[in-house]
Amino acid sequence: MSNIAILCSGGDVSGMNPALKQFVEYSLQKNLKPYFVYDGYEGLIDNNIKAASYCDVSGIITRGGTKIGSARSKRFMEKKYRQIAKKNLDKLNINMLIVLGGDGSFRGLDIFYKESGIKFCGIPSTIDNDINGTDYCLGVDTALNIIKTSIDAIRDTASSFKRAFVIETMGRDCGYLALVTHLTSGSELCLIPEIAYDLREYEQKFKKEMNNGRRYFIAIISEGIKENSQEIATWFQEKIGIESRVSILGHIQRGGNPTVKDRLMAYKFVVNAIDGLLEDKHESVICYDRFGFNFKSIEEVTSKKKTLDKELLSYIK
Ligand code: ADP
Repeated sequence: MSNIAILCSGGDVSGMNPALKQFVEYSLQKNLKPYFVYDGYEGLIDNNIKAASYCDVSGIITRGGTKIGSARSKRFMEKKYRQIAKKNLDKLNINMLIVLGGDGSFRGLDIFYKESGIKFCGIPSTIDNDINGTDYCLGVDTALNIIKTSIDAIRDTASSFKRAFVIETMGRDCGYLALVTHLTSGSELCLIPEIAYDLREYEQKFKKEMNNGRRYFIAIISEGIKENSQEIATWFQEKIGIESRVSILGHIQRGGNPTVKDRLMAYKFVVNAIDGLLEDKHESVICYDRFGFNFKSIEEVTSKKKTLDKELLSYIK
């Protein structure tokens, strides 16, 4: 029986718990002994590694976050701590590692593999959907649904009061969440870092719409644009002449009950990751695109900036 471990690193996403459940079940099915590493790379260094069983994953499929914790680890950047991590894995005869994380976590993993030879597979997990080489990252669908629910609620109050609501989504310098939300929430304005814009171009249009009876505006802006949300709200007040409010959705976007899509993607990512490791794919990330699941090198995933889907971009007005 071989031993296999899983950890979550960097930002948590909804979908990690369903992935942990499938990890335990599929490992046992494949005659592997599953281990959990608690609190990301910190747990590798501190030997916080424990055998996992069905009991550990019972009832977690409905919960956001991650039962085994996630962390950022400054120590893992240093070789001496990675050597301790390797020793801890060796003590338990663990030679396969699955990491749920973003490109930063994968970069660390690559260095760790080159030093230690521990086979690994990365599962792209970030609500920002900004990892190159994969069209889907675990957690995105749940985040989009949380945002949708929030905006639907904000719309109720916006329409009652004749107000412009400026709603800020996460995404760092990637506008994916804002763009998909714009297309699916019927907002009037969408500002994302990938598209140059000039607010003056909207002034006449929005004023005309108000004269024609528009009562409210919903503006979706991505956190990575050059202005902050308050500046956009001030623009609505000063240039369009409508009272405005800001809603920064923040960490609410990272939590919540995982959607069916994220539960299913978690299931498939894990099955593919374990199958890949058993087929001796040593150092790759399991990606998903229109051709299905495929393994890509860390280099491919981390060296280029992800560009937004051209079709989606073409829809923005
Ligand atoms: P994400 O995986 O979400 O992009 P981070 O960029 O914060 O998150 O990276 C998560 C963790 O991965 C870091 O806290 C660190 O422990 C590890 N890591 C990132 N880059 C490196 C690196 N160059 N060398 C070693 N570890 C790294």
